[in-house]
Amino acid sequence: MNLELSEEQSAVRQLAKDFVAREIAPHVIEWDRAESVDRSIVKKLGEVGFLGLTVDEEYGGSGGDHLAYCLVTEELGRGDSSVRGIVSVSLGLVAKTIAYWGSEEQKRQWLPGLTSGELVGCFGLTEPGTGSDAGNLSTKAVRDGGDYVINGSKMFITNGTWADVVLLFARTNDAPGHKGVSAFLVPTDTPGLSRRTIHGKLGLRGQATAELALEDVRVPASAMMAPEGKGFSVAMSALAKGRMSVAAGCVGIAQAALDAAVTYATEREQFGKAIAGHQLVQELISDIAVDVDAARLLTWRVADLIDRGQPFTTESSKAKLFASEAAVRAANNALQVFGGYGYIDEYPAGKLLRDARVMTLYEGTSQIQKLVIGRALTGVSAF
Ligand code: FAD
Repeated sequence: MNLELSEEQSAVRQLAKDFVAREIAPHVIEWDRAESVDRSIVKKLGEVGFLGLTVDEEYGGSGGDHLAYCLVTEELGRGDSSVRGIVSVSLGLVAKTIAYWGSEEQKRQWLPGLTSGELVGCFGLTEPGTGSDAGNLSTKAVRDGGDYVINGSKMFITNGTWADVVLLFARTNDAPGHKGVSAFLVPTDTPGLSRRTIHGKLGLRGQATAELALEDVRVPASAMMAPEGKGFSVAMSALAKGRMSVAAGCVGIAQAALDAAVTYATEREQFGKAIAGHQLVQELISDIAVDVDAARLLTWRVADLIDRGQPFTTESSKAKLFASEAAVRAANNALQVFGGYGYIDEYPAGKLLRDARVMTLYEGTSQIQKLVIGRALTGVSAF
């Protein structure tokens, strides 16, 4: 793998750095306290092309490769994980999945809006009763003439309150030899679909996370994406790439923790000198730095494999597992460098830690990533 960025990749990274400095950094504390980022950020993300990365220009995308996508995701994660999550879900889990699995009609219907930021997408897999065991979901879609009628509920849906379309997973057949789970593209203004914002989150407070309820939601059969019964494959392929995006966001958190810790340590004085001059503070900082580099290299490897058309699922789980745990460690170490000031939200470390914590939980917990890696290594499923 060539670790040197191309001119195009360096340019898109700089674009993302400038975007974060201009549009995100000045508002981070305010959005976190208000429990909502300003929704106008979605349109701005679309205008600068960040919601169309890797999607063909024919469908409104801005092209680019997966390493460019990781670079942008990292910078957004360095700025604000709530904003990063909007892109990771609306583009990463929804638009990219439509681009891969969708019919020509579905691509033309949804991709231009999603990539421009006119529309927001959300990914509806988790339910109140099924999280890690997602394949066991119980939302049902029953065929009725030319339609499907969907009943059930979805939990913890990122972008859920804002979304215009949900990539929804529902069981289409329970019979023996069943066809299992299918994927649907459901407009969120369809009668019978209601949503409730989930408040009181530890982190990602700016993000619109919702519970969705579906009561006799009627969609035409053409809303089904991919053949009937292929829904679980759709979900797993979306998450395999999604885990790379989460990992890249975690690299951003860890990098932000490093930058903040180094700056503070050189400015803050105790015992007559900058705390950077105390060996145990240097230990905290160097531990963060090693975590940043290791997480970034694992993440870039996934992007490189995808861009070269190689298998990447296990490597994506490794990157997500390591980077998410590393982001928690890095933010916690940075908080220690800040001492008591790390505990208040005028300084960045506390928010970085709160935002990092969920990364070890969603898109498959750390335990689930270990089971994916273990299964690939041994050939034995321990789920
Ligand atoms: P459970 O599955 O109940 O797990 C509880 C504990 O048991 C965990 O520690 C887990 O690792 C462990 N465990 C479970 N099974 C095993 C096993 N076989 N072996 C060992 N340990 C096991 N979902 C979506 O569909 N779309 C979204 O946009 C989305 N966004 C989210 C945003 C936030 C802020 C949060 C918190 C969650 C989001 N999720 C989303 C849901 C997320 O993916 C799930 O929370 C996650 O998969 C874990 O499921 P669970 O919470 O039901 O925990």
